[in-house]
Amino acid sequence: MTGPDLLLIHPPAARAAAPPLGTAVLLSHLRRGGATAEAIDANLEAHLYLLDGDRLSVAAGLAPATALQRAMKSVPESLSFLRSPDAGRAFPRYVAAARHLNRALSAHRGASGRERWTLGDYIHADLSEYSPRDLSLAASGRAGTVFSGYFRDALLPRVDRMRPRGVAISVNYRHQVLPAFELAGLLRRRLPGVPVYGGGGMFTSWRSSLHGMERSFLPFDRVGFGPGERALLVAAGSASTGGGYFEDGEAVEFLPDFGFAQLREYLSPEPVLPVTATRGCYWRRCRFCPEAVAPIHPYRATDPETFPTLLRELSDRYGVRRFHLTDNAIPVATLRSMADAASELRGFSWHGFARFERELLEPGFASSLAAAGCSMLQLGLESGSQPLLDRMGKGTRVADASAILSNLSRAGIVAYVYVMLGAPGETESDAERTRSFLSEHAGEIGFLNLSILNMPRDAFWPGIAEGGARREGGFNDEDEPLGLYRRVPARDGWGRPHARRFLQKRILGDPAIRAIAARTPPWFGDSHAFFFRNTVMHRETGGKANVTGESGGVAAGGGAPHSRTNTLPGVPPP
Ligand code: SF4
Repeated sequence: MTGPDLLLIHPPAARAAAPPLGTAVLLSHLRRGGATAEAIDANLEAHLYLLDGDRLSVAAGLAPATALQRAMKSVPESLSFLRSPDAGRAFPRYVAAARHLNRALSAHRGASGRERWTLGDYIHADLSEYSPRDLSLAASGRAGTVFSGYFRDALLPRVDRMRPRGVAISVNYRHQVLPAFELAGLLRRRLPGVPVYGGGGMFTSWRSSLHGMERSFLPFDRVGFGPGERALLVAAGSASTGGGYFEDGEAVEFLPDFGFAQLREYLSPEPVLPVTATRGCYWRRCRFCPEAVAPIHPYRATDPETFPTLLRELSDRYGVRRFHLTDNAIPVATLRSMADAASELRGFSWHGFARFERELLEPGFASSLAAAGCSMLQLGLESGSQPLLDRMGKGTRVADASAILSNLSRAGIVAYVYVMLGAPGETESDAERTRSFLSEHAGEIGFLNLSILNMPRDAFWPGIAEGGARREGGFNDEDEPLGLYRRVPARDGWGRPHARRFLQKRILGDPAIRAIAARTPPWFGDSHAFFFRNTVMHRETGGKANVTGESGGVAAGGGAPHSRTNTLPGVPPP
């Protein structure tokens, strides 16, 4: 019996709140192109496998702390509660369940005890995902991760039984890198002769670095940059494994195939389907943004007129009425089309990133979006200082942002606002303007993401020398030639440490702002926030402040670089 032409794998570690869109669109494209393809969400599977009671007990050792014991005992109940609609109606109980699960995950610390896995990220203190040497250690099996047991005892035997003719691993977040390299190495040793392909946003971000390196540390037969649709379809139909890199951004798929996903198994009060109307970003001028500096996708958009119908089709097929639009920025034409399709979208709820575009100044537009199911808009304010926004290339007016927040609030659309400090040239008075904007608009902001800017390595910023440099508290370029960020030098007595302190003391010291941060769902952030929109409307708060860390998460399949999720929790997500 022959297996599929291609098996797609979404490796750990990422949030397990919804099925991966990148995998779903690739699967759809391959099947629509006539290939036989299958997909596995190894990220969700790893969560469920490693949250098993017996495995947790072994990982926790003989004398686990009382809090860990309690957390491990409550895993079945916490999992079941987090997956029930009740979780979206009881924030304190939701937070308690998430805390238990997160603490239970902490039992898995790896062979050296120096790995840290949470519901939002994964860090190996001894290995860097930006170091070819460390990646080679993971790929060769000389170093493992907390996922080794799952790979060896569950995933590999399953892949073996499927007998695929090729395997493609998609790596879109930095927390997936080390496990993906380990998995690729295991697959090559277990299935010699079966080509293993690598692709996704992380590889695309490394494009220029990889071209200048020798490739022996890569456990992949080929690595793809940009959208993988066409290249993987060619690979699925060819016996030749070739070698090196491939890049073909012409074909992009917008219709996902979630047939591989057990939608009720995800850690979410109700199933949510990710979908996107665009790849890349239509604005692409923000100087701090990887999507502008080194785009992961060439910009492509589906027909705005047909987008509501796509949602309707997905709802009919999968019985889901909640959607996450993962666009970097939903174009105004798509928003208009959604607003015009209110009757077709009746009973739906959707949210996603939008820019503070002037069209949102029309109160009627905000109301019609709400009537069409828009429950939450994620908006990158970045700063409350107009001169700084202008230097960033953000293209928004602080006064417009102010009026738009009022419109959205009146229309019943929750605003999830993204702010970052530490941009080059920022001064304390810029930061103070940001604080004062947030404080003045606290009544109109539902949720907040506060972070410290990470500057893309290839970014051009006036007054900042080009080229890489030692990162704050990290390795240098020689150790980490695959590093994505560069140092932002302090100027006039203001730099990242000052910005960090300002964020903690002045911004989070403001009770109104702290209350917003406190009601932002821990670990799951924008993946779950819209479930609590009614809580926001009634201004109830609870839990600890949520500050997500450093900007610059890498996501593909439309994941927003300004979503800043799954990033290192540097300040206290990603
Ligand atoms: S920050 Fe957002 S709007 Fe700006 S270039 Fe990046 S994706 Fe586009």
